Amino acid sequence: MAGIYLHIPFCARKCCYCDFVSFADQSRRAAYVRALLCEIDLAAERFPARRYDTVFVGGGTPSLLPAEDMERICEALRARFTIAQGAEVTLECNPGSVDAGRLAAYRRAGINRLSFGLQSANDALLRSIGRIHDYAQFEHGFHMAKQAGFSNINVDILYGLPGQSEADYLDTVARVAALLPTHISAYSLIVEEGTPLYGAVRAGETLLPDDDAVYDMQAAGRAALAALGYAQYEISNYALAGQECRHNINYWENGEYLGLGLAAHAAMVLAGWRRWNNTADLEAYIAKTARGELPIERMQRIERKEEMFECVMLGLRMTRGLSRAAFAARFGQDALEAYPEAAEALRALGYLEVTQDALRLTEAGLDMQNSALLYFMED
Ligand code: SF4
Repeated sequence: MAGIYLHIPFCARKCCYCDFVSFADQSRRAAYVRALLCEIDLAAERFPARRYDTVFVGGGTPSLLPAEDMERICEALRARFTIAQGAEVTLECNPGSVDAGRLAAYRRAGINRLSFGLQSANDALLRSIGRIHDYAQFEHGFHMAKQAGFSNINVDILYGLPGQSEADYLDTVARVAALLPTHISAYSLIVEEGTPLYGAVRAGETLLPDDDAVYDMQAAGRAALAALGYAQYEISNYALAGQECRHNINYWENGEYLGLGLAAHAAMVLAGWRRWNNTADLEAYIAKTARGELPIERMQRIERKEEMFECVMLGLRMTRGLSRAAFAARFGQDALEAYPEAAEALRALGYLEVTQDALRLTEAGLDMQNSALLYFMED
């Protein structure tokens, strides 16, 4: 299994918590699309052929691109790469930038899954974090997407927002679930250095819920989602039965993926397991692709020990855990043999379950994931 990630680095406005590579200045949008089309050609020539089972167009705000640009990009991907029949093709949408015409064009372009960045159903909270939309716009966009024929829709929500209460977060969970999306991603707000939110928190101008309150929101949200039929299959991801995001599962299985666009990351077997990332400098990206060069900033060979640890780190994010068979097929060694001490110590703490098929963190282990991983790092 392999996936393609494609990055669109433009947003109508920067949200105050965002450290993704994206720009509110859209003056280079057309030049960027031309550069991306060049990179698609270059990457198809340079990297070994794969059958891609998923495509994920993320950002930034991909739904800001004119529909015809998205159609050209999807056409180029299909012309230059082998995209599997029935591939999952996701596009991230901001509720403030969709309309019926665009949604119909996305369907024509072969996009079959949408991911709406809602974050909260509380309009005051949305304003306070700089979102460009309100809840009513989201609901309208969601219904338009259904009418356009999208049956597979994710909604992103956040907890731990400034001034957010548990009741408020649960209200968001309930209102979103009532729309019956196939998938809900619930992330804890991370205050990233260098963002306006970071500055406001440091200056004491913005107060965040404390760690206990955030933990309680997460636990209450998880229980509410389970009661509504959304099973947790990864630390932050919930889905109706059979609707898990295949693109993200490929990341957590440490599978191959090609990243295209500004600052995109990739991982692939190229004479050994390699990871690389494109430049995050927009002008350098445009200039390099125009010269016929791939815009790679750094490529590194991942040694076997590191690759093994990556498999554990990513696999244990999923509630089904790390597949022992897949690990053994990749490394010629059972995961229990590779990490005997870590597995034993975590089992004794009640953080790890070992079955014939998998190594799996318990609910307590998932909550302590970073500490649990330290055992594997040291084993
Ligand atoms: S819409 Fe998303 S990518 Fe754009 S600024 Fe907000 S959080 Fe960042």
